[in-house]
Amino acid sequence: MTPTMIRLEGVSKRFGAVRAVDEASLELGKGEFLALLGPSGCGKTTLLRLLAGFEAPDEGLVWIGDQIVAGGVWVPPERRHVGMVFQDYALFPHLTVSRNVGYGLPRGGRAARVREALGLVGLSALGDRYPDELSGGQQQRVALARALAPEPAVVLLDEPWSNIDPVLRSSMREELASILRATGVTVLLVTHEQEEAFSLADRVALMRDGAIVQAGTPEEIYYGPATRWAAEFVGAANVLPGRLADGLVETLVGRFPAPNGDAPGDVQVLVRPELLELAVDPDGDGEVICREFRGHDVFYRVRLADGTTVCSQRPSNESIPLGVRVALRPHAGRVALFH
Ligand code: ATP
Repeated sequence: MTPTMIRLEGVSKRFGAVRAVDEASLELGKGEFLALLGPSGCGKTTLLRLLAGFEAPDEGLVWIGDQIVAGGVWVPPERRHVGMVFQDYALFPHLTVSRNVGYGLPRGGRAARVREALGLVGLSALGDRYPDELSGGQQQRVALARALAPEPAVVLLDEPWSNIDPVLRSSMREELASILRATGVTVLLVTHEQEEAFSLADRVALMRDGAIVQAGTPEEIYYGPATRWAAEFVGAANVLPGRLADGLVETLVGRFPAPNGDAPGDVQVLVRPELLELAVDPDGDGEVICREFRGHDVFYRVRLADGTTVCSQRPSNESIPLGVRVALRPHAGRVALFH
């Protein structure tokens, strides 16, 4: 079994009346890449700062490796073996790339460490430049090299792509993630972007109002959200009334296989929009009342005979015009139930 590298046990942090982090518990295995995903103001940065040692918890324990670093004892940030990449990279403008990366490293072996870290991020040739002579992406790699140079056990990334042009973002994400994976370091990435969290991380922890609502693989969270809020936060969702019997759940858009172990009776059913196929049918039960062309797919809103509106997402080669009557054809995919 993978040893645990980070553990938070019932950690809380208040700022006056605000409970920024509220009894949060979370574990990361050694070498795991976890994304902490949640809306603005939910406490993500505070949780990261508690791990790094820039804040002290009011309650709870913080472990890094097999050592308690906060809670009864206090280990200062410089002794936690944690590297951090900030949103604005926080590079020293008056120092060269090499000196930025070497800042704070022990003198013995410093030059070799700097060379190694710049090699890891593919910037070996740019050690003598100053930060303002680099592109945004190169500056970010310098910040990563600086975080990796002391060979930390853990790297914390706080919304590292928020200042990057959206066109470049996805290739930069992949590049940074593959550098981090190659080092085998444990990574905690803070983001409010679901796509970023899902595409990069081994596991995602969902945070709301200071609490960790759910942690799991992207698939577990997308198809098996713990709450209705989680369902709606990580993607478009139809949440419909349904009735469960004999392993099937009946809804007004069709019948779906139910997850195992749920008690029969009335339920709320999460049906993701890609599970609802539309077929043009003059006698169909629905009418397309909204249609958004998104390139690789089209997002529809369909009003049913009883006034309920559901959404459907279909490949754009199946395009259906606005105002047309349609029949709904559910796919036998995964649905989640809420009681
Ligand atoms: P964002 O995605 O917008 O950066 P976040 O999820 O990282 O948000 P935090 O920055 O951790 O959220 O803030 C959580 C809550 O704690 C917010 O209500 C914030 O206003 C409050 N807060 C954070 N730091 C302080 C502080 N030093 N003093 C007072 N309140 C604070």
